[in-house]
Amino acid sequence: MQAIRRGDRGDAVVEIRAILGSLSLLGDEAPPNPDLVFDGPVERAVRAFQQARGLSVTGEVNEETWRAIDAARWSLGSRVLAHVQPEPLFGDDVRALQERLLELGYDVDRADGIFGRRTATALARFQREVGVVPDGVCGPKTIAALRRLGRKVVGGRPTLLREAERFRSAGPALVGQCVVVDPGHGGGDPGVRVPDGHLRWNEADLAYDMASRLEGRLAAAGMRVHLTRGPSPASALTEAERASLANELGADLLISIHLAGHPNPAASGVATYHYGHYGDGGVTSTLGERLAALVQREIVVRTGLRDCHTHAKTWDLLRLTRMPAVRVEVGYLSSAEDRQRLIDPEFRDRVGDSIVAAVKRMYLPVEADVPTGSIDVASLRTTARAAASGSTI
Ligand SMILES: [Zn+2]
Repeated sequence: MQAIRRGDRGDAVVEIRAILGSLSLLGDEAPPNPDLVFDGPVERAVRAFQQARGLSVTGEVNEETWRAIDAARWSLGSRVLAHVQPEPLFGDDVRALQERLLELGYDVDRADGIFGRRTATALARFQREVGVVPDGVCGPKTIAALRRLGRKVVGGRPTLLREAERFRSAGPALVGQCVVVDPGHGGGDPGVRVPDGHLRWNEADLAYDMASRLEGRLAAAGMRVHLTRGPSPASALTEAERASLANELGADLLISIHLAGHPNPAASGVATYHYGHYGDGGVTSTLGERLAALVQREIVVRTGLRDCHTHAKTWDLLRLTRMPAVRVEVGYLSSAEDRQRLIDPEFRDRVGDSIVAAVKRMYLPVEADVPTGSIDVASLRTTARAAASGSTI
């Protein structure tokens, strides 16, 4: 196409003016332009548009700039999106959808603004997970589902309080709540491995042992508990698959148990992670943050492990889960001191008690919360503890 530039007129100029106007680039002070000519204000608007989109700033509408202007007329939700042939839909709305799907962990390859087969497949997978007909067509129901999901990742303290209230409206009882406990690694992936004399400790087995102790305690308190793997699975799920499993189960909480390892044997302590990132707007899962803080404090107080604090991460398991989710790294297997504790079954029981106390506090109203370390976990057990034996690992 021939570039459209200052002095030109015609249908294309009318359209360019309309789109730039809808993006508020023409300004109110643009004089009436009965001839619909490509005038000075239009040229300035084109330059501003090109600059904002990272295009070469020429003030002329060449093919590349036209494509971008054409795409900019669509915002997500302004039309129904689907995979059509031979000319796929293209626009800023498609790009926005792709960016959102990527953020949620669905593979659309890249956000190129073109609604191809890959985007339709990713969209259908998203739809299946949120209970919308998985037809790969982005209509009002899918848009509504995307908007609803937005509530997991929020910033700001007022929102924290509102969200927390909604969560606690479930009541202080743990009974019937569904918790997914995720022992890290497994299935050929041992995680951190440390030789210790003739013994060899590995993260996967210790994490499983702690998870099963926690499982027994949570179940005894009346919660529904699911483990993401058995003691020695043939193959382990990926982090994204573990997140999907928790989503499919409609879990209320997810707790992932790992150990840490470091070449420096002096590294030691416990750290807990929740979803979020600090840069650029700094989002966080506020309930995840609270759960992480409670888990961290209870473990530090009840076990004496060094406090390595809580941290925001965008790891798949934290990012793709729709419930408050945390990953706790209970000590360094590479630290001789931490390791002596970790290989003691009684210590692993205390870790289980700590996490149960943290979960219990998640369900207490703010004013009824109690000091760290004060919940008598034994009193929560409504039935005899069946699982979680003290057997060797
Ligand atoms: Zn690990």
